[in-house]
Amino acid sequence: MPSLDEALPRIIGAGSRSSGVVDPFEGLAPFASAVAALLHRQLRPSTWRPIVEALQSAGLLDPEVMNLAGMLEIQQTLGGKSSPISHRSLASAKHLAHWLVERHGGRAEILCETALSIESLRKELAAIQGIGSTGADAILLAASGRPTYPVDRGTYRILVRHGWLDASSSYEEARDEMIHCIGDDSLRLREAVAGMSWLATHFCRTSAPQCEGCPLLPMLPSGGPIGTETE
Ligand code: SF4
Repeated sequence: MPSLDEALPRIIGAGSRSSGVVDPFEGLAPFASAVAALLHRQLRPSTWRPIVEALQSAGLLDPEVMNLAGMLEIQQTLGGKSSPISHRSLASAKHLAHWLVERHGGRAEILCETALSIESLRKELAAIQGIGSTGADAILLAASGRPTYPVDRGTYRILVRHGWLDASSSYEEARDEMIHCIGDDSLRLREAVAGMSWLATHFCRTSAPQCEGCPLLPMLPSGGPIGTETE
């Protein structure tokens, strides 16, 4: 059975097919990147980018400002009921702003400062309502370039179906597996995240894998995809 190491070039290659953009968060300030990372998990790039731009134009991508803003005000900035962003996503961004103000003086730059260990930041971020472990790792990778990997359901499915991860593995075990394989190069980690996301969306679907035409088809175990816990 081919290893995850051997499959990595194909995974990273798939990432460049997804949008052609190596780093979707390039040029954004830390808080804007963190909010974009939360939106990126739920929305397509064509949807989340205009939302980030609208929040930026309204001056809301400042932790102090977002913390004080009401949900209604933010929703109206984004087009009211016609906005594609859910109440839950907006609430997560507001909780993040509140945490930065209450715990770190409103300074999103703390996400990038090495004086705070990545483990302590992961723990604090994961405890924020609506963010969790995957959101915490997505924020740290996007906003600070810290070497971590946000394991989403798509990554989990691909790892399990190829036999690179046991179906009963924890979030931390799946994350460690990805970091062990990719290393601590944050750009490469981002490329792998984009690749896994593209593969999961186009081929490795929740209901059943569509292996025909998938770039990872030659990397399957001899018996074909292994069932996940939900299959
Ligand atoms: S669709 Fe098939 S070949 Fe592609 S990643 Fe999923 S299990 Fe692997």
